[in-house]
Amino acid sequence: MTDKFKSKHIPSIKGTKDILPDEVGKWQIVEIAAKRIFESYGYREIRTPVFEATELFEKGTGETTDIVIKEMYTFTDKGGRSLTLRPEYTPSVVRAIIEKRLDLKPQPMRFYFIGPMFRYDKPQKGRYRQFHQIDIEVFGEEDPAIDAEIVQMADFFLKHLRVTNTKIIVNSVGCKECRPSYLKKLRAAAEKEKRHLCENCQRKIETNPLRIFDCKINVCRNTAKNFPKITDSLCTECKTHFHTFCSFLDLFGITYVVDPLLVRGIDYYTKTTFEIVTSKLGAQDAILGGGRYDEMMKDFGGPDICGIGFALGMERLLDIVPFEEEKQEFVYVAYMGESAKRAGMKMAKRMRERGRETLIEYRERSLKNQMDRANKLEASWVMIVGEDEVKKGTYQLKNMKTGEQVEEDEENILKIIEDGK
Ligand code: AMP
Repeated sequence: MTDKFKSKHIPSIKGTKDILPDEVGKWQIVEIAAKRIFESYGYREIRTPVFEATELFEKGTGETTDIVIKEMYTFTDKGGRSLTLRPEYTPSVVRAIIEKRLDLKPQPMRFYFIGPMFRYDKPQKGRYRQFHQIDIEVFGEEDPAIDAEIVQMADFFLKHLRVTNTKIIVNSVGCKECRPSYLKKLRAAAEKEKRHLCENCQRKIETNPLRIFDCKINVCRNTAKNFPKITDSLCTECKTHFHTFCSFLDLFGITYVVDPLLVRGIDYYTKTTFEIVTSKLGAQDAILGGGRYDEMMKDFGGPDICGIGFALGMERLLDIVPFEEEKQEFVYVAYMGESAKRAGMKMAKRMRERGRETLIEYRERSLKNQMDRANKLEASWVMIVGEDEVKKGTYQLKNMKTGEQVEEDEENILKIIEDGK
């Protein structure tokens, strides 16, 4: 080690978080629930690399989006390629489908993914530079029934985790047929009100006026409220699609509100967009957001296959799930003397092989000290081995909840512990 590093603490990077052993259990509960529920709807897990060619996101997420303009972790690798740590997941899945010809498999294809995303955002509560998303994607289903099904699935997932105070917001952002004429109207309206828009939004009038609706500045929001609404400019196909989508939500008994200003911050959406927000999170109130992206696969040079999906922020979700304190049952092995230690180590191995968490510690301690440790760690049982027991081939087992203590041979001890009594 060079002197440069001697006794030097190197802190974590701003906007990143360690997930410590005490918190990991909560992550696992959510991940297991996601896996179980999504798989019950026919979704299968997909995993793609953390970094991709920068172009993939410039093209997919969109060159005029905040993500691409301001938030990407882009770097040049040693081979001179421009790479980007994924800021969102959809472009990666689309790339993988085209590259691996997954489109030749029966459709619709349903995929889910859980993993980290990277955005150079301004760190604050609910907004990090490395954060985690649960991502859902369906390819090859045009029927608005699937739009309603995934909203229902998201709602069910949140209900299963006992998340309350949520609101489902839906909208349609039209398609390549009706959007151009709407954008023209929007551009004209924004041009008229230009002086009431921030500098950034003034620029968006030309580049992508839809993005004005994403601006969080109050004057812009108030001005944009009076702009023409996309819902009034939908073509017949989009209108029918949206109404049918809403009717399927009604069929599922889902409560939702239509917000014509919900355009979401990504360029590729067509027709349906939706978000689930909560009053429990403060400023960063979106738990998940998604929509349809019917043109994306084709735009990437792939087959003409439509898509729809959503991404849910794990950190935000974990903040509002009411977790119950759940303690894993485990055995603490206490021993006295060298041969007892060896017998205890062998028993610990057998108990672990049977799936029972077992703790044996190797620092020399008195029996009382070991019992105190077991108490403090809230062990469910203490298995006590002494030289006498080793000679007899027996073990003492104390149930820490009832205080009951028995002396049994190896097989019986294993059976008691396996039965959880
Ligand atoms: P988006 O990909 O921007 O549509 O975001 C989908 C979801 O990811 C949001 O609703 C948030 O829950 C979560 N999310 C997005 N950006 C961040 C961030 N910087 N930090 C934490 N969570 C985020």
